[in-house]
Amino acid sequence: MNVMDIFETMEYGPAPEAPTPALEWIQERQPFGLFINNRWVKPASGQYLDSINPSTGKPLAQIAAANSADVDTAVSAARTAFESWGKTPGHVRARYLYAIARHIQKHSRLLAVLESLDNGKSIRETRDLDIPLVARHFYYHAGWAQLMAAELPGYEPVGVVGQIIPWNFPLLMLAWKIAPALAMGNTVVLKPARYTSLTALKFAEIMQEIGLPAGVVNILTGEASQVGEALVRHPGVNKIAFTGSTDVGRSIRRATAGSGKKLSLELGGKSPFIVFDDADLDSVVEGVVDAIWFNQGQVCCAGSRLLVQEDIAERLVNKLRARMEKLRIGDPLDKAVDMGAIVSPGQLQEIQRLVSQGVEEGAEIWQPSWACPTEGYFFPPTLFTNVSPATTIAQVEIFGPVLVAMTFRTPAEAVALANNTRYGLAASVWSENINLALDVAPKLKAGSVWINCTNMFDASSGFGGYRESGFGREGGKEGLYEYVRPAWEKVVSIATTASPSSNGSSPSAGEPANGGQFTAPGEMIDSSNGFTPTFPPIDRTPKMFIKGKQVRPDSGYSQDVYDPEQRVIGQVGEGNRKDIRNAVEAAHAASGWAAGTTHNRAQILYYMAENLAVREDEFARRILQQTGRPYADAASEVQVTISRLFSYAAWADKYEGAVHRPPLRGVVLAMKEPIGVIGMVCSDEYPLLGFISLVAPAIAMGNTVVVIPSQRSPLSATDCYQVFETSDLPAGVVNIVTGQRDTLSQVLAEHDDVDAMWYFGSADGSKRVELASAGNMKRTWVNYGHPRNWLDSVQGEGEEFLRESTQVKNIWVPYGE
Ligand code: NDP
Repeated sequence: MNVMDIFETMEYGPAPEAPTPALEWIQERQPFGLFINNRWVKPASGQYLDSINPSTGKPLAQIAAANSADVDTAVSAARTAFESWGKTPGHVRARYLYAIARHIQKHSRLLAVLESLDNGKSIRETRDLDIPLVARHFYYHAGWAQLMAAELPGYEPVGVVGQIIPWNFPLLMLAWKIAPALAMGNTVVLKPARYTSLTALKFAEIMQEIGLPAGVVNILTGEASQVGEALVRHPGVNKIAFTGSTDVGRSIRRATAGSGKKLSLELGGKSPFIVFDDADLDSVVEGVVDAIWFNQGQVCCAGSRLLVQEDIAERLVNKLRARMEKLRIGDPLDKAVDMGAIVSPGQLQEIQRLVSQGVEEGAEIWQPSWACPTEGYFFPPTLFTNVSPATTIAQVEIFGPVLVAMTFRTPAEAVALANNTRYGLAASVWSENINLALDVAPKLKAGSVWINCTNMFDASSGFGGYRESGFGREGGKEGLYEYVRPAWEKVVSIATTASPSSNGSSPSAGEPANGGQFTAPGEMIDSSNGFTPTFPPIDRTPKMFIKGKQVRPDSGYSQDVYDPEQRVIGQVGEGNRKDIRNAVEAAHAASGWAAGTTHNRAQILYYMAENLAVREDEFARRILQQTGRPYADAASEVQVTISRLFSYAAWADKYEGAVHRPPLRGVVLAMKEPIGVIGMVCSDEYPLLGFISLVAPAIAMGNTVVVIPSQRSPLSATDCYQVFETSDLPAGVVNIVTGQRDTLSQVLAEHDDVDAMWYFGSADGSKRVELASAGNMKRTWVNYGHPRNWLDSVQGEGEEFLRESTQVKNIWVPYGE
């Protein structure tokens, strides 16, 4: 036998990690209690659940089964703790977070082994990835706690946060949730997943070790129906942060609708892994291993759809099969193992069911020749070829080690195929042509795009989804905003609008003496023979504004617009479902607006301001006519509106992304992208300013909009048609449908092609919008009936509006040979 033969035949020996310290740790403590107010308490139910080791199928530990009584106790502990923790200086919070990070590192091996035992994932992953990232998250957020006062002025913590995490990255998901929450001064009640609670319980011990004030972090183990649902519905919780399946995310959206709870959802995915024909195929193969066989494919952003350029498909598939044959599956505590166990029998059955369905649907299956261990829950790496894009396995999240391969010919086809999913969490692009990769990346509907790499995470770079992958970001500065709210929201004061008493007030400077009744120019004509004929004013009934055209309402009905004295001052069209559909279609057709330059968008906003200024008096009078407010007041609304257009023209080319430097050789380009089509519903206060304050930031950032103007005073918005028409605003960027606010907003919120909904109206309307938006999990921004002072530059304009108009896409670009 020569050296070559030895290399060919050499078997890996086992390299087992000793489980003893972790097993002893469990033995000494079980059955585990609940962690409330820094103490271990028995569950109110007196019940305990088995936690199973997935690689053996045998019980590992007994964990407490909390119920709603425990949720009450924990929330009230967190509420009490919030009173002081919320006011604790940033530097003090930073010290606690720093201490957590240090203690994670001190216990890193125990945490890594516990995680492997409890979840079934390989020790290589827990030791080298999960736990180091957990520590990094706490260090990074210690920094944000320190800098909060300087970097987020005017923001306050949200309060008590309910956090619900899944089983696929138990401690990492805990870190993603708890670190930013604490950094921003919130207190927490966290529910780990039923299958994987042990590292969260070790984390609770660390809270005791570092002396975190009691009640700041509370951990409740147990079942979704007992703990998760109670937490979601609890009135003492100010925010819910959830990671898990899209279906549960949707139910949480519905359950919290109208409650005023902030919500962030990190849900499922079916992420594309795109390989162009100039890619380095050996790197691609290792990339695929990391994309879909990492954590047995139980990764929300797993690259589960392999999209290969047609001319290299066969070569790549052959290479992949050869690599799959060499993958090692088995005891997760063996350091030479690539893949561990599936978390539970239920998940294993679901994978098996979907794989059988793939075979029935006609796809070609390939699995390595070796067999999986028979003890425990294992599933082999699996590759499907000959997959049609519409089949179940190409569309549904399998959440297992199953890759489906499809081919494309051109970059445009690759993008279309990649975006052919209801999800939008992540994507990988493989090409040695960086121009091509950077051209494709922004076109992919995904929160993270990895170029020539995959499954990269870092605390500095926000993570989160588009579409049905959820909303909100975890990590990065953008992730902090999930845990704060503007300080002014607590002390809302708003200048009175349209009060009946203002009608009777004497005219202000510049206001017509007839109390707001106007004579249109040319209405009275003085003839030379002394006879003065009166002409009725030329009727001006505003229509809808769709695709840059003024169109009649589909219903054929109009509705009256009244002044505060209940006199009819005009009519507007009564929009219906079809008008909304047409408007959404027009808004989509205008998506080229996002691709234009920010300079051009700024120019158009300035032009709108210019054209509005030319008609300042006319607009002021219109406000006066609709609201009865004094002329000076109305004129100042127009002035502020012009200034607001200037603000967003200014922001259009300045609200930019960032370049992060995570600990890797490369950069992450954090790009602020428009959301797409935003449906917006305007408040009745400040009919012009309230309208422009929503439209301007959204279009400045490249969105297109469908707007339902104030129902009571829609004429200021409809008067803007001519301003838009004369300002070079492309058709379809702004579409306006007048009519019944709540009926129309329901239709908009239910529309699956609308990407976000903004609603400024009643508490009830806000709730209905949040409920209806659960259909396609669109982002919502509603006011729950609370007024906002649109005149005020803090409440009425600025970063909050820009943030709601954008989503961050992180493009990872490694460099070096
Ligand atoms: P779930 O979404 O059911 O569970 C995630 C977390 O939510 C768990 O803590 C769970 O508790 C809790 N939960 C479940 N239902 C509710 C509810 N109604 N109210 C409040 N909390 C609730 O995921 P599963 O574990 O059932 O996995 C099912 C599928 O979800 C997977 O096959 C995969 O497709 C997807 N998934 C996606 C993840 C991601 O990271 N995006 C992570 C995990 C799963 P409990 O554990 O007690 O059930």
